[in-house]
Amino acid sequence: GTFAEIDLGDALNENIRRCKYVKPTPVQRYAIPISLAGRDLMACAQTGSGKTAAFCFPIISGIMKGQYGGGGPQRGPRGARTAYPQALILSPTRELSVQIHEEARKFAYQTGVRVVVAYGGAPINQQLRDLERGVEILVATPGRLVDLLERARVSLQMIKYLALDEADRMLDMGFEPQIRKIVQQMDMPPPGVRQTMLFSATFPKEIQRLASDFLSGYIFLAV
Ligand code: AMP
Repeated sequence: GTFAEIDLGDALNENIRRCKYVKPTPVQRYAIPISLAGRDLMACAQTGSGKTAAFCFPIISGIMKGQYGGGGPQRGPRGARTAYPQALILSPTRELSVQIHEEARKFAYQTGVRVVVAYGGAPINQQLRDLERGVEILVATPGRLVDLLERARVSLQMIKYLALDEADRMLDMGFEPQIRKIVQQMDMPPPGVRQTMLFSATFPKEIQRLASDFLSGYIFLAV
């Protein structure tokens, strides 16, 4: 199969073509249809497997189809002090967050879906200005996101999609308390609305516990 055969929407399919992706990688081939069908997913995926596209494509496609109202993306306001992203991608490091942000921006080109990145170890002011311009997809490291939540500059009440990238690395770095705090803020009504994707290279007990706490009726994908 090719990407053209998957119903991701015209704009996204055009961007995929522009990126010169023709054939899905194995993780993409299985993860994308599962996510498009609305199922939660725990996937085994190494660096270089194409996992970024595997979680970005269903997120962008879902936001464009406008789950909240139909007929195009429901965009958050510009200039608002509190940002209401519809998707959150959590990643362990600044480097990985920047990389995901760059890819996601290419995939979301001219779709109306805005992608913002926020990571620690850098001044927060530019990130605050980016958030004020409006954001549909937020890529963040856990520590910086907790900071933004405490400042009430981000709300997770509208989150429809949550992707945890390199979950085992985030736990190794000691981010479990922050991750739990973040996900707690999404557990507001209406229930059952959030769709969660967890990507990890290894599956120790701690990861399985996260999966059973955060995912519902999930599919386990090992490719
Ligand atoms: P990732 O594992 O998401 O970091 O992706 C690894 C590299 O493969 C990145 O440079 C991607 O742009 C590229 N890539 C991902 N999926 C595809 C695809 N289906 N066809 C060609 N290149 C891809």
